[in-house]
Amino acid sequence: MINGLPDGSGLRLLAPAKVNLTLHVTGQRADGYHLLDSLVVFADHGDLLHVSLAERDEISVSGPRSAGVPEDDRNLCIRAARLTGRAVRIVLEKHLPNEAGLGGGSSDAAAVLRAIAQLTDTPLLDGVERIGADVPVCLASHAMRMRGLGEILTAVPPLPPLPAVLVNPAIPLATPPVFKALQRRDNATMPPVPHDLRTPAQVAAWLALQRNDLQEAAISIAPGIPGALSQLTAQASCRLARMSGSGASCFGLFDTSEQAEAAAKAISAAKPSWWVQSVVLK
Ligand code: ATP
Repeated sequence: MINGLPDGSGLRLLAPAKVNLTLHVTGQRADGYHLLDSLVVFADHGDLLHVSLAERDEISVSGPRSAGVPEDDRNLCIRAARLTGRAVRIVLEKHLPNEAGLGGGSSDAAAVLRAIAQLTDTPLLDGVERIGADVPVCLASHAMRMRGLGEILTAVPPLPPLPAVLVNPAIPLATPPVFKALQRRDNATMPPVPHDLRTPAQVAAWLALQRNDLQEAAISIAPGIPGALSQLTAQASCRLARMSGSGASCFGLFDTSEQAEAAAKAISAAKPSWWVQSVVLK
């Protein structure tokens, strides 16, 4: 994984896709923010960034998934840089779909924060949930339990690497309407992650007892989501399929990378307009 590799006068970084293996909505604060309880993991695939110190902030966005990504102050990368008080030049190559439940913008912002800390030899910033609820967990970039508004992170027992397929059925879905469509906001918290999950099959069996509370709400707005789930479950070797984040992307878990790659190939062939990626989640 490219992580802060020196390149010329700057750093090259991977901003990995974030996947919510579970996402329980456990309450709502008086100010409207929702309380979450989520097991979050990261893929070995994502956006690529080059970050270098500069006189003033600059960003250029390219890559196969750059359409609709702002190239100005609205970009979360620039908002993250501004919080540090350091000016940077950012070259962002988008590979993750936008408004997809894979935390693309948050992961990009976290990569910029990591780069600035490394380039200026300063500690990572606190309070980064101000940029976005997923930014703190994206700064960690490895399996974590995420609670509160996204700022309470706790370690989880080690999980095996999880071969998976990520599928986005070409339905952009903004997060706020999905929370608005929720029927219940006081769901049960997630039980502790067991210490004895040693194989992808064991992880899938435990996950099958958990939920993504946003899945039904997202389906009520985007009725194409069950089609993505059934493309995954139609693959004989798929152990579990579920939506990530507020959707519409879904993930399927497999025992081996060979199975995941074959499944991704089959789904791409059946749905050429979808974004389909075989990954390993950690
Ligand atoms: P989440 O999993 O946190 O719900 P998401 O996949 O739904 O994330 P993002 O792709 O992170 O959403 O971004 C959503 C919005 O943020 C887009 O409408 C886009 O205009 C804006 N945005 C700002 N910065 C970025 C960025 N670097 N990459 C992608 N989108 C960005």
